[in-house]
Amino acid sequence: MTDRTHTAAINGATGAPLWLLAELTYRCPLQCAYCSNPLDFAAVQEELTTAEWIDVLSQARAMGAVQMGFSGGEPLVRRDLEELVAEARRLGFYTNLITSGLGLDEPRIEALREAGLDHIQISLQASDPDVAAAVAGSPKAHAKKLAMARAVKAAGYPMVLNVVLHRHNIDRIDEIIALCDELGADAVELANCQMYGWAHLNREGLLPSRAQLEAAEATTARWRERLVERGRDMRLLFVVPDYYGERPKACMGGWGSIFMTVAPDGAVLPCHSARMLPMSFPNVRDQGLEAIWYDSEPFNRYRGDAWMQAPCRSCEERHKDVGGCRCQAYLLTGDATATDPVCSLSPDHHLIEAARREAETATRPIAALTLRNVHESRVFCRQ
Ligand code: SF4
Ligand code: SF4
Repeated sequence: MTDRTHTAAINGATGAPLWLLAELTYRCPLQCAYCSNPLDFAAVQEELTTAEWIDVLSQARAMGAVQMGFSGGEPLVRRDLEELVAEARRLGFYTNLITSGLGLDEPRIEALREAGLDHIQISLQASDPDVAAAVAGSPKAHAKKLAMARAVKAAGYPMVLNVVLHRHNIDRIDEIIALCDELGADAVELANCQMYGWAHLNREGLLPSRAQLEAAEATTARWRERLVERGRDMRLLFVVPDYYGERPKACMGGWGSIFMTVAPDGAVLPCHSARMLPMSFPNVRDQGLEAIWYDSEPFNRYRGDAWMQAPCRSCEERHKDVGGCRCQAYLLTGDATATDPVCSLSPDHHLIEAARREAETATRPIAALTLRNVHESRVFCRQ
């Protein structure tokens, strides 16, 4: 604990970040239509070097961070991933790799294990190759992911599979869970896609209807019972889309409260989506992480509750959900200080209700989704 953290803890002020998300790169061989990377990711050119990342890890650990995730883009694109994992492990982090599985092979799994990687999470797009290919823009990725999931399991890692659910795959949740079972998963995150970044752009083609969602939840509940009957230990986590809640989730456990994301070019963010907000974020190339976390204006802007508007400002629930997600408020209302429209008390909640109605009758086919790639991203770089 640094002197700064110690003083903060005594004063009951901002504590240290517990989680560091290292977005090593925005490069990725896939083109997922729901990717949470910024729309204008193609504008980011100069990734942090190996030495700069090692310095970031060291600073974050000195501040008190204990968990870290390597993500992207596809973190396996970075040839120095094993070196960074080894350094993170040496510093005492618990390390997670969040990957599509592309770029992985048995020698690399072994190298990552030798480097001390604790945990690998692989994403799957669907149970069948056609839907997977259409949503990720790659006909070969599905088979490769299945092979790598099996290889990760064979290497002795606890296997966590992440499946992003949307209106084009949620009706196949029975087959999706069966596939995860067959692959030997220890845990499955059935995460309905949240409407940020590319997902927001494709919302009409991704948001499931309420009937689809309820049927999927019921299927998941039946699977949980069957797994218990079989004595099979495979945890199923079903994450409901924010758009079907009546209260928002706390934005990253509170803005600048627990999570710190470092983007590929060194920009430091309170969450991986925050780059879409109309504000500029400090960069680790210009300032130390501790000064950024405790003193920078962007990290302090939405701490506490002084920034809140009505109805959050006087709401008894404001310390539980901190008024919801700033990115969602901005995306839907154009005002990042607004109450998250997901909340049924928000004056803008009708926007969420309209999106739900739209999902009842939406006809946008999977082939009409805008894929996340450099070509599409350049359109947003010019705006
Ligand atoms: S969501 Fe898809 S496109 Fe985006 S980083 Fe992950 S694998 Fe790549
Ligand atoms: S009004 Fe604001 S603080 Fe109250 S429940 Fe809704 S989002 Fe949370």
